[in-house]
Amino acid sequence: MSFDTLGLSAELLRAISGQGYNQPTPIQSKAIPVILGGRDILAGAQTGTGKTAAFTLPMLQRLSRKNINNGRRPVRALVLTPTRELAAQVAASVTDYGRYLPLKSTVIFGGVKINPQIDKLRRGVDILVATPGRLLDHARQKTVDLSQVEILVLDEADRMLDMGFIHDIRKVLAMLPKGKARQNLLFSATFSNEIKQLADKLLNQPELIEVARRNTTAEQISQVVHPVDKNRKRELLSHMIGSRNWRQVLVFARTKHGANRLAQQLDKDGLSAAAIHGNKSQGARTKALAGFKNGSVRVLVATDIAARGLDIDQLPHVVNFELPNVPEDYIHRIGRTGRAGNQGEAVSLVCVDELKQLRDIERLLKREIPKLVLEGYEPDPSIVAQPIKQGGNNQGRNSNRGRSQPGKHAANKQRSRSAAKKAGTGQQEAGSNRFKGKRTSSKNKGKRGHGKSAETQGNSPYRQARAA
Ligand code: AMP
Repeated sequence: MSFDTLGLSAELLRAISGQGYNQPTPIQSKAIPVILGGRDILAGAQTGTGKTAAFTLPMLQRLSRKNINNGRRPVRALVLTPTRELAAQVAASVTDYGRYLPLKSTVIFGGVKINPQIDKLRRGVDILVATPGRLLDHARQKTVDLSQVEILVLDEADRMLDMGFIHDIRKVLAMLPKGKARQNLLFSATFSNEIKQLADKLLNQPELIEVARRNTTAEQISQVVHPVDKNRKRELLSHMIGSRNWRQVLVFARTKHGANRLAQQLDKDGLSAAAIHGNKSQGARTKALAGFKNGSVRVLVATDIAARGLDIDQLPHVVNFELPNVPEDYIHRIGRTGRAGNQGEAVSLVCVDELKQLRDIERLLKREIPKLVLEGYEPDPSIVAQPIKQGGNNQGRNSNRGRSQPGKHAANKQRSRSAAKKAGTGQQEAGSNRFKGKRTSSKNKGKRGHGKSAETQGNSPYRQARAA
């Protein structure tokens, strides 16, 4: 299929060919005609599927159909995103795709000065891309008027709910014009009950559009778990990056503090590293990401929320330095590699404390991840599992300090986290917390981490944990 068949205008086709796109992605070929026809959509698509163009292109076309009043330009399209990075990326796409159209757009998010944003809004924009918190700041100061919005896009809606933005979203919705005239486009990677409730309230007879999730077509991503003691993870990570000559590695840490510390330690090991998380200033986040993209930063250490929406294509290596507490996050993490048919590698360093998380992930994947004990890094079987400390990785709220209470979903998640914590303790009591399994035989015993590996035997503690 080609873009020409989707009903897009010559200006947009020109911009698309300027981007070097030859054919629409599945979400684009499904969503573009429906949105052009004016219908609401509920779309299941993740970052990396081309979803931004799927809503931006028809949105630009619909907006450009109407004569633009040169005097006052009210905001006619509002795109809400969970993170600053995603907002910046969406805004850049709006500019790129709208290059040959007489429409104006801007982006507003927290962590940067508000006055330049106020100036831009005052001059008038047709399309506003925003994170919910800063948008509400503007609304309170009456520096934004949403009463003329014709198209609303909620991008990565599940993430917004995860981050506790539901109250903020409701407040924003209350500011939009009422009635069925508005077109609503909701994009979400997952469809929880909360998303369905939001969709029921917001969408008017939506067309449901789903494209294959990256995790279901993950054959090109090789996944492996390396069992290793917690206090040797950093050493193993440095060794793997160095000895395998990985040039661009995205490493996931569970907490902001942990991400910072790891980046510093890797730097000391001679590997250029930067951390990206919600407590970093916007400037520092942008700089770290730019360095990672241009190759001057070899290792980017990120927390889950900070990494969401990052458009880093075709990453060869993703490392879970710590497993996520929420199993779905594992899928989001590994989906950053092996894009567009490229080979990718997702490596998880798993210590004895994380067997519960590993089991939950495998249950979600409906398959086991191969386990490889690396020689020289065999886990110490005498180490007893400890409950995992919760890092309070609530960046969404931190980046939105002093606003409404976390949403129900966030509260539920907190509850399930404490349940996980309890389960972790239970696991310790149940005694499945030791690496009792037969150790990998090693021809090179004593040599640390020379890179050779052998699969663990069937009686590894991972299996015991699963069986428990
Ligand atoms: P997204 O899912 O919107 O974050 O897009 C992921 C990446 O795919 C971005 O780098 C886009 O520039 C790129 N992209 C979007 N549409 C196409 C297309 N039709 N062909 C090739 N690349 C695309």
